[in-house]
Amino acid sequence: MTEKYDVVIAGTGVGGLYSALNLDSSKKILMITKAKTEECDSFLAQGGICMLKSDDDYDSYFEDTMKAGHYENNKKSVDTMIRNSQKTIKRLISYGVDFERNEDGSLKFTKEGAHSTPRILFHQDITGKEITSKLLSAVKKLPNVQILEMTEMTDIIEENGKCAGIVAKDLSSGQESKIMADYVIWATGGIGGTYKHSTNFPHLTGDALTIAKKHGIPVVHEDYVQIHPTTLFVKSNKGKKERSFLISESVRGEGGLLLDKNGNRFVNELLPRDKVTEAIKEQMKKDGTEHVWLDMRCIDSGIVKSHFEHIYERCLEEGIDCTKDLVPVVPAQHYFMGGVDVDENSMTSLDHLYAVGETSCNGVHGKNRLASNSLLESLVFAEIAANKINEETRK
Ligand SMILES: Cc1cc2nc3c(=O)[nH]c(=O)nc-3n(C[C@H](O)[C@H](O)[C@H](O)COP(=O)(O)OP(=O)(O)OC[C@H]3O[C@@H](n4cnc5c(N)ncnc54)[C@H](O)[C@@H]3O)c2cc1C
Repeated sequence: MTEKYDVVIAGTGVGGLYSALNLDSSKKILMITKAKTEECDSFLAQGGICMLKSDDDYDSYFEDTMKAGHYENNKKSVDTMIRNSQKTIKRLISYGVDFERNEDGSLKFTKEGAHSTPRILFHQDITGKEITSKLLSAVKKLPNVQILEMTEMTDIIEENGKCAGIVAKDLSSGQESKIMADYVIWATGGIGGTYKHSTNFPHLTGDALTIAKKHGIPVVHEDYVQIHPTTLFVKSNKGKKERSFLISESVRGEGGLLLDKNGNRFVNELLPRDKVTEAIKEQMKKDGTEHVWLDMRCIDSGIVKSHFEHIYERCLEEGIDCTKDLVPVVPAQHYFMGGVDVDENSMTSLDHLYAVGETSCNGVHGKNRLASNSLLESLVFAEIAANKINEETRK
């Protein structure tokens, strides 16, 4: 059976959800996800989301993003992300997102590696869940949006040089069908599922990239893969494909230290992720170990149990009390800076096909993403894509 929609969105993470929230309410929209709606990386984000604190911080935020990205970033994209950050955070708060506050009620900022000042908003160590669950609730209230879980996009339909829909597979019955649409938005996330050790959900396997290549749609910087320096080393994981548990960079931002097998520091913990990862890998080689140690004992135990509650609990499950014991950590695949090549409106080279979030590449992250820039980037450029579609269809 062939169905027809105004817009089909593949992916229900922040990129997909925020696209739906910004499209005109007159549009008939279908969202599909390969898994359950809660099973996406957006729900896993721990550390937080960046915001330009004031105009005084613009140059520093811009420079930190560029420096982390080895100055390969698209400057226009960086500027767009930063300048839209305050507006985006206000919208999130209007959907009920609860960020940590100071006693006077002002927003509280934390710091992560390669940021020269605290500019990251957070909700304990489950910022992604807080943001994504609130956006999901808002989308579920929209009468013009239908969400189909366990439905995989396997291809797109091209007609007269335009994207005219997708081919989707119902994963419970195995049945494939054509879904026609005036516009398609890809928001299918990262590629971690193709790695043995990754912090990503295993079903995130870069499907849009495969489909793009089949249709001659450019994919760029496939080698720009970010390895997160600190995921929990669990011996029983060996040989099994399991999601690696991330120990957020903000742990180091709050004072956590990295130690070698003899208990000595070997790197500046607040360097960009690629530099810290490199140093850890070298140290493991030198020491002949499978991990290094993260020392969280220097962080006030009250802060550990409140700000890092879920990390604290996950470590306890492994018999590690991170307020007293050292935590074994190892690098793992984490984020994909490359992706489907898009312009400043999140448009791919194929008419009526857009890509947003981790699956797309607008060059904002350059060669290496600055911590806590990806939720923001996904939201900002999803809104831009939706606005562009609204504008085109209102003409
Ligand atoms: C452990 C962890 C911690 C993180 N912490 C932070 C942080 O603190 N701050 C920050 O800014 N970023 C963080 N990130 C990165 C950030 O979470 C992601 O980059 C961002 O959420 C990506 O959003 P997205 O909408 O592009 O993709 P996702 O949220 O991953 O959603 C992808 C969606 O696409 C669907 N999908 C995939 N393939 C198909 C297909 N073929 N058909 C149909 N549906 C499909 C999936 O089911 C899912 O619904 C973290 C990531 C991880 C893994």
